Amino acid sequence: MQQELADQPSYRAQQVWEWAARGASSYAEMSNIPAALRERLEERVPFSTLTVVDEAHSRDGTIKTLFHTHDGRPVEAVLMTYRDGRRSICVSSQSGCPLTCSFCATGKMKFGRNLTASEILDQVLHFRRIGEVNHLVFMGMGEPLLNVDHVLDAARRLPDVGITHRRTTVSTVGWLPGIQRITDCGMPLRLAFSLHAPEDGLRSGIMPVNDRWPLEDVLAACRTHHEATNRAVFIEYVMLAGVNDGPDQALELARLLGPGFTFKVNLIPYNPTDSVYDGSSPEAIERFRAVLEEHGVRATVRLTRGRDIAAACGQLAATASA
Ligand code: SAH
Repeated sequence: MQQELADQPSYRAQQVWEWAARGASSYAEMSNIPAALRERLEERVPFSTLTVVDEAHSRDGTIKTLFHTHDGRPVEAVLMTYRDGRRSICVSSQSGCPLTCSFCATGKMKFGRNLTASEILDQVLHFRRIGEVNHLVFMGMGEPLLNVDHVLDAARRLPDVGITHRRTTVSTVGWLPGIQRITDCGMPLRLAFSLHAPEDGLRSGIMPVNDRWPLEDVLAACRTHHEATNRAVFIEYVMLAGVNDGPDQALELARLLGPGFTFKVNLIPYNPTDSVYDGSSPEAIERFRAVLEEHGVRATVRLTRGRDIAAACGQLAATASA
């Protein structure tokens, strides 16, 4: 039987992919594939590498799906829809995360393993079956640049699903060798750097990975990325009350980044996790943003989505849904 599948002309695999990328939910729909072959595929090749275990719907329309891989590893992905027509998927690149950022729930769960390119794409296809999708962020569980080969393989296929490379963002803690891979990959992907503290001492305290790849080195790689691609690097900065949200720290961040178009800061309201932190007040966030802007650094505040179902940034930990 397997031999029969292997004997098929190679364009059949392309046909199956094209159907899946356009949202087909079964082999039965693939009308340009002979019925006997469709039946054989049905019997022999699981339609997805992931099984849906749970799905939670937020009041704001956000959907969070918990999947299991064939070996029982939990993986979460989120679909966010916006009034302006954006339909954005947040995908995981690993089951769990080996890094231990103190404010993030994913770092507290057990690290499983890197996901394959198929396991990354199957998160996307799941949401594509619900409707069209046009943006994607690698901001789910895991550190994408610790799994950069599979992340890039998956990214290569995204335009077939309707997501251009320009609308695809890879977010990293600053895993330096991986940043260079993104710069050199030949796809105009957006790079986002989770910076979170304007100096090494504080940053190492909340993100131990900083001891390995310190701020100045990572920012130098980000500047190189900007020069090579002419695209701004997004700086993510989670606002923790009394930790990193003071006006003096905003000034320090502005000095570190410098004015101009190389960087754009995205301030993230802290989403509650099982940690010691409190989120900054809206006033503190606004003050911080104003200091950045006064010093020529572009800054916006990220809209929080899916907090009621623990689907917001930093909350993915594969616990039971709300
Ligand atoms: N490992 C990558 C990809 C995950 S992206 C990275 O860190 O960039 C998830 C984003 O949410 C990161 O910027 C992360 O720092 C941020 N985050 C983590 N915990 C958070 C929390 N509790 N509230 C708000 N943002 C959080």
